[in-house]
Amino acid sequence: MKRVRQIDELTAHAGTADWRLLSGENGELAIQPAMREKVALVSGVNRECLLLVAPGCYPSQAYFEAARHAHRLEYTVKPLYAEQSILTLLHDQQAALASTDAADRLITQEDRERLDELITEAVTRGAADIMISPRKGSQTQYLAELDIDTMITPYRDYTRDEIEGMMQCFYQSKADQETVEEPIFKFGSAQFAAGDGVWAGHRTRIRYQSKPAFPGGTDFALRLLMMSETSGFNSINDLNLPPQQARMLERASRRDSGAIVLAGQTSSGKTTTVKVMLENLSRTRPDIVIRSLESPPEYVMRGVHQHAVRESKGGELQALSEHVKELMRMNPTYLFLGEVRGHESAGLFLHMLESGHGVILTGHAGSPLGIYSKLEGLGISKQVMTQASNVNALIFQRRLPRLCPHCKIPMSQSAAIEDKEALDRLRMLKSSLERVCVQSPEGCSQCNNRGIRGTRVAMDVVRPDLRMSEMVRADDTRGFHARWVELCVEHDWGDAAETALYHSLRLVLEGEVSIHTVESRFSEIDSTLLTDECRTWKTSGGFACEFSV
Ligand SMILES: [Zn+2]
Repeated sequence: MKRVRQIDELTAHAGTADWRLLSGENGELAIQPAMREKVALVSGVNRECLLLVAPGCYPSQAYFEAARHAHRLEYTVKPLYAEQSILTLLHDQQAALASTDAADRLITQEDRERLDELITEAVTRGAADIMISPRKGSQTQYLAELDIDTMITPYRDYTRDEIEGMMQCFYQSKADQETVEEPIFKFGSAQFAAGDGVWAGHRTRIRYQSKPAFPGGTDFALRLLMMSETSGFNSINDLNLPPQQARMLERASRRDSGAIVLAGQTSSGKTTTVKVMLENLSRTRPDIVIRSLESPPEYVMRGVHQHAVRESKGGELQALSEHVKELMRMNPTYLFLGEVRGHESAGLFLHMLESGHGVILTGHAGSPLGIYSKLEGLGISKQVMTQASNVNALIFQRRLPRLCPHCKIPMSQSAAIEDKEALDRLRMLKSSLERVCVQSPEGCSQCNNRGIRGTRVAMDVVRPDLRMSEMVRADDTRGFHARWVELCVEHDWGDAAETALYHSLRLVLEGEVSIHTVESRFSEIDSTLLTDECRTWKTSGGFACEFSV
């Protein structure tokens, strides 16, 4: 067995200068502290791992335990003798080493320029996220991707060193130091930071999160939030919803008490919807005061007093209770509470509701009914949420990439098997498929060769009545939706009963959105799904339903 005398020699044995200690405190192959002076595990290339063992500790229980540990996670083990001092240095001084490394590494001009170039490009292209992760099977090559119009688009490759420099530059020089938990950037840990800056002429808030990736390396996500932007959406009509659904939003946003809860995934356009609703409220009800707590405000909302809540360590909203006291003294009639994440914001929501104010809040959930369970998890019971007039509307929305109108291809002309199969499934809709299109693989100059230009929003808007509330308490999903359709029939609200899926399928028939996107975001369409989707419509006594199955 070979012997390692100096830490520098590890590079030759590992076959890479990029080796990492795997057996440290939070390492992938963490070992008991008592074993650390006897053995250490260090990563090499191709999932080989160096098992360093102190002279006199081979064979020993520590040695075999470490080897088993590595085998279990499918590493091949290469045993080496190492001086005790090396094991100590690797383990005990790991944290110190990491921080000295970071502190010693100076942020260079190239780091700054590379970071600026990446963010500027992302902002220019209207990306919502920058995602950076190691190329599969590599610890030295990283790929940066952009989320544009909800589509993931590869941007370019970087080396690990370039990424380390860029991310350190963001963490230590661009981020607001009040948002960071640890003052020093560490490449291989989970860290959060947030900071503002101006890129491509847009004031942008960036939320940074890093996370160790399997089997090695680190993932980084930079969420870009444009601030003080005009969104291009000025009224509910701009959302392009079915007419009765748009009216439903308008009616819901006219009441000055009760809650509107808006759910959807990240970057599903929730804030845009809130903006048009609040501006509508402010236009129709000049007598009430509307305030918002946002982190950060994404758009300027006319007629709304907007307040930025700072994010403190780890991304929690800072001192929300302070804001509550201040807000109560300022007597808001209506409050928009961005992204309810913690119990503190849930408490504020309840307080607003119970004191007879109006409140809009946004959150993550997969359906209108999912909102109730989500809120329950934060301590807001179904009991409260189903009390008479506590909820004005439940909204669930999705944002879908819109096919570029200049280069989309009629689906009937496509020879691709998956297109032919999808077309067959679409026949179940018993509607004209003449306008159905797919994305052009080459794109055109109008869409920067992406085949996608902008997005369309599809949503569920539900205004529960007392009977629906009873069904929520009884967990009767089908009854809940059936009653909603029944209500829409009774009141002649027509297409207000459309679900996000139904609306999305309509957009497919209109050639606005690709069936492949809809199927990947909802589920593959089959007769069961369509029957379910249409049953409520049929039993309700018949809307003009295009999908008769
Ligand atoms: Zn195009």
